[in-house]
Amino acid sequence: MTDPQPGPLDDQTEAEATCSARGCQAPATWQLLWNNPKLHTPDRRKVWLSCDDHRQQLIDFLGKRAFLKDVVPHV
Ligand SMILES: [Zn+2]
Repeated sequence: MTDPQPGPLDDQTEAEATCSARGCQAPATWQLLWNNPKLHTPDRRKVWLSCDDHRQQLIDFLGKRAFLKDVVPHV
């Protein structure tokens, strides 16, 4: 069993619009909004983009760390 390995913890540009999961080039269909309270002010939102296949994996990854704030469709 391997842990999910999302990409770098950087904001993604809208132009990329591909899934944040490592090695996945699928078009993003979801945005995961998250915040690391050790690094970010409370109102800061980092964004990971996700395809349908990796959405739950990334939600679990962020949820375990209590970083996840919101999940919204990426249009
Ligand atoms: Zn993906």
